[in-house]
Amino acid sequence: MIVIKIGGAAGINLDAICRDVAGLVQQGQAVILVHGGSAETNEISTQLGHPPRFVTSTSGFTSRYTDRETLEIFAMVTSGKINTLLVERLQRFGVNAFGFSGVDGRVILAQRKEAIRVVENGRKIMLRDDYTGKIESVNAGLILQLVQAGLVPVIAPLAISPESDALNVDADRAAAMVAAAVKAESLILLTNVPGLMKNFPDESSLIDRIDAHDLEHALGFAEGRMKKKVLGASEALGLGVSRVIFADGRVEHPLLDALNGKGTIIE
Ligand code: ADP
Repeated sequence: MIVIKIGGAAGINLDAICRDVAGLVQQGQAVILVHGGSAETNEISTQLGHPPRFVTSTSGFTSRYTDRETLEIFAMVTSGKINTLLVERLQRFGVNAFGFSGVDGRVILAQRKEAIRVVENGRKIMLRDDYTGKIESVNAGLILQLVQAGLVPVIAPLAISPESDALNVDADRAAAMVAAAVKAESLILLTNVPGLMKNFPDESSLIDRIDAHDLEHALGFAEGRMKKKVLGASEALGLGVSRVIFADGRVEHPLLDALNGKGTIIE
């Protein structure tokens, strides 16, 4: 079982990814896909006159502030456009993909962050109408039923709370929790860089192997959103996934390369 997260950063070669997925499925490999959508949500929310607002938590992590309107735009873009068109593309490559978000069938349960404490202009403030969540559990049984029926699940990064609010969740961490729940042996995070670099953006400083126990040290090299990927990797490994690969999604064979040892492999 392989879980693949497809990033939304510029340059990702979706045709090449879908072709590799088709090849793996033909060989009898079980595959589950999770995708993001932040870049496109930023674009479309700006076009709709509701530009993104990013907030920095008191512990220094940056995230999207998701009020109800932003949540609705996020759902429209990720669950609507990105998910459907990824399923369309996979179908063109002969893969019987089946798209849904974590809201459907309560597949991904998350706890809503009732109030987030952020720093703005040097002042600490509380934001209360935020629709983001921390994933608590994933219904692996339902996902595996789709796989057993010969379908390839394609999951958009939304979850549902116990109170049945739809929530925006981080796609890297969603992929990590899905991988752990279905007991995947590999989690591949495809993005627009060759892997984790020691001196970003110097590609010659690519780190090709990291021992899972040294991940804390590796977190020091990651900047910005890469930090969440390293945290996702750490979560997945801690929950029993044997290896996590950060791999280049821009190349001709993103998945075959990753499975043949390219990128950053954490075991
Ligand atoms: P995606 O949308 O594909 O998930 P992100 O933009 O969230 O991708 O994260 C990948 C980005 O992380 C890279 O494009 C790169 O700009 C940035 N990054 C920060 N630090 C590092 C690092 N040490 N090594 C590699 N990439 C890094």
